[in-house]
Amino acid sequence: MKVLLVESSRFHQIMISQIFNNEGLVVRIVNSSDEAIMVLEDETMDFICTAYHLPGGFDGIKLAQQVRNNPETRDTPVILLTSNEIDQSFDYAYDSGVTEIYNRSDINALSRNLKASIENKRNEINARVLFIEDSKTVARHMIKQMESLKISVRHFYSAEKALQSFKKSPKEYDLIITDLLVEGRLNGMGLIREIRKIYPDRSKLPILVVSGYDDTPRRIELLRIGANDYIVKPIIKQELSARLSNLITTKQLFDQVKIQQEQLFHLAMTDQLTGLYNRHSLSHLLPKYFNSTSAHTTPLSLLVLDIDHFKHINDTYGHTRGDDVLKKFGQLINSSFRSEDLVARYGGEEFVVLMAHAPIEHALEKAEELRKYIETHLIEGIKITISIGIASADSHADFEELFNQADSALYNAKNSGRNQTIIYPVNSIAV
Ligand code: GH3
Ligand code: MG
Ligand code: MG
Repeated sequence: MKVLLVESSRFHQIMISQIFNNEGLVVRIVNSSDEAIMVLEDETMDFICTAYHLPGGFDGIKLAQQVRNNPETRDTPVILLTSNEIDQSFDYAYDSGVTEIYNRSDINALSRNLKASIENKRNEINARVLFIEDSKTVARHMIKQMESLKISVRHFYSAEKALQSFKKSPKEYDLIITDLLVEGRLNGMGLIREIRKIYPDRSKLPILVVSGYDDTPRRIELLRIGANDYIVKPIIKQELSARLSNLITTKQLFDQVKIQQEQLFHLAMTDQLTGLYNRHSLSHLLPKYFNSTSAHTTPLSLLVLDIDHFKHINDTYGHTRGDDVLKKFGQLINSSFRSEDLVARYGGEEFVVLMAHAPIEHALEKAEELRKYIETHLIEGIKITISIGIASADSHADFEELFNQADSALYNAKNSGRNQTIIYPVNSIAV
């Protein structure tokens, strides 16, 4: 990255260029604004850093004006260096095109800021962009620039075709860039409205409008209907890069936060030992099974399973072996039921299974199958038995009530000698 240093004092030339060199910047030194203009005719600079006082009566501010007036250098930032001794206001410098003013005593800060700005400029933006532009020339330039930033671009001349493609895979894109007037019946505004119907949240999918119009009411209206940003043609390369980078970085950060949120939520819902859902998660999961407002009712069965004399297992084999048994048992029940059934560890050695679309006979059959398997197979080398209580209702029922019924059936199974399944109401069937 190259900086043009316009400075006549030998002492400052050496001091400033050393600081810039230390930050890895390449410095081209000239003594006067005439020399600066000559160099700028042949070489492209990333920044110009000029002293206020220059020989020949042509100061740094006038140099900035010249830089701005030349289409070749119009977009190159100009930093004006002042000294403590200069007792004057430089407010008008900004009007003349100076980008920033630094005092020479702050040269280290300037150097750091230049480096950060250059790094941002260099940064590749790994992203996917849906791009709608009907001018071949504009499209070619913008695609070339985006591809140089490692952005992969899907380009359409018409908003209708872009929308069709977008609807097929809306999650594919990090940003939409659209021209206002494009081929076909749907214009840029219509496209933004359609996209905002799918993604009302602007941070989920940003939209950048590119337009030849530079009028305030239009810009306000576009921002209102859901555009995130607006850029006016002719496109200035650096401006496009900076806006792309801002929009995409924010979107991708938002995506990361979302993923972390989901991971945390998953963690909060999961029992660490068995990997099953925990008791706390039930309040989030039950509404899927119980819906009193739905016109349809479906049969539901709830199983409450409890390992018999588990305390004794802990006492005999130790807590760690007890944990292993719980873990294995958890895996076993999880794999015994269908994925639409909800299996959760309710507490210590007590588990619940909510069977969707399952009448009581079906639930009983499954429960007995599991109980008999446990009875006849060692779990982590240990012989265990389980007791099960079952209650059935339909999807209009209340979970608390169903749980209490199944739990009272379980209590009965325990009292009747354990290693058995009992259905609520308890005197109906005992297996
Ligand atoms: P019952 O047949 O009546 O169910 O008898 P039980 O001993 O299984 O039941 P009780 O409720 O009296 O004791 C449950 C035991 O489970 C006591 C507790 O230390 C143990 N326990 C609870 N959570 C864990 C755990 O995460 N790991 C281990 N190893 N043991 C646990
Ligand atoms: Mg028990
Ligand atoms: Mg218990």
